[in-house]
Amino acid sequence: MNMKSCTKCGSTVNGFHKRKASKDGYRSLCKLCHNEDSRKWRSVPKNYIVMKIYQSAWNKTPKGIESSRKSSRKLYEQSNGTAQKRYNETEKGKLANRLKASRYNARKNNASICDLTAEEWEAIKKFYYHKCYYSGSGTQCSKGNLEMDHIIPLSKGGNHTMSNIVPSCRKHNAQKRDGSPRIPVQPLLLLVV
Ligand SMILES: [Zn+2]
Ligand SMILES: [Zn+2]
Repeated sequence: MNMKSCTKCGSTVNGFHKRKASKDGYRSLCKLCHNEDSRKWRSVPKNYIVMKIYQSAWNKTPKGIESSRKSSRKLYEQSNGTAQKRYNETEKGKLANRLKASRYNARKNNASICDLTAEEWEAIKKFYYHKCYYSGSGTQCSKGNLEMDHIIPLSKGGNHTMSNIVPSCRKHNAQKRDGSPRIPVQPLLLLVV
């Protein structure tokens, strides 16, 4: 392993990530090159969303639930609760709390699946380039934060889950509630099946 050199940059000093499928048990690109490659890959919105879908599917398996529980317990024990407070002050924390409230609302509306996470919502917005789903449909969008638009409304038995949500500006979201039903095609659905 010591004299192994990266197939991309030729360096021997950066170390290599483990990879079971390789002959020697390590990747052929050094850590630096591999990290750079995967950063590039993730910066493509479509790739990012695919990764998030796999990740969130894994997070919902018994193994995934157990491991995320373990890591958050560890974090909590290390911080004595102060990390939580600090997290609540950050933009990400505020968003997560807002999402918690929306999950609560969805549950109140009898949605049977209620598992949208902050990361998934971020991924959805990123996938749509942080634009309203209905932008370019003829009427101008309103400014401000994007809202969650449920493709099948919660009131009609829709779920509060990744595949049933698109980003929408306040105006277009409200228009839909007024009764003129739109039929968005959720590209995420196409990716999952
Ligand atoms: Zn390298
Ligand atoms: Zn809009």
